[in-house]
Amino acid sequence: MTKAVRATVSKKLRFEVFKRDAFTCQYCGAHPPNVLLHVDHINPVANGGKNDIDNLVTSCEPCNLGKGARLLTVVPETLAAKAAAVAEREAQLLGYQEILEAKRARIEDELWRVAEVVDPGSSKLGMSRDWTASIRRFNERLGVHAVLDAAEIARGRYPWGGKRTFLYFCGICWNLVRQADAGRGGEL
Ligand SMILES: [Zn+2]
Repeated sequence: MTKAVRATVSKKLRFEVFKRDAFTCQYCGAHPPNVLLHVDHINPVANGGKNDIDNLVTSCEPCNLGKGARLLTVVPETLAAKAAAVAEREAQLLGYQEILEAKRARIEDELWRVAEVVDPGSSKLGMSRDWTASIRRFNERLGVHAVLDAAEIARGRYPWGGKRTFLYFCGICWNLVRQADAGRGGEL
């Protein structure tokens, strides 16, 4: 009854699990369109595992099949089943693309929030690639809030913006990066 096991996880619940896991296989990191995703029961159904979101994890087809005994796939035979499989694939790809899109939008948004503080008007007038690349790196390393604080401090010191302010801002950020690295080293 492998078919029944798969059928009991509703599409809504399945996509909730995928979304929580960023449409990425939690075993190997694969994602659409390279693989078809399944939901895997952490505690198997055979052992009384429930169709609860906390008991479900996103797994690509190869990882899921690799688990051997519990084959959750069914080969679609009818035309309707084939159409459903295609729809599932497309829905998974769309979901994954939405996650990427949201991440890209967040990174852009955070970049220009910082840029506007460190160099007023830049969110409209633009900023050199070197500078935007630096801000992106700092945001990634330190988080946007620490970087915004650094931008505020730099503006406090050199209120007019421009190169002087930017270099001072970079100095503060690099100090924070060094502190973070030292802190990590100390903990280990
Ligand atoms: Zn996998």
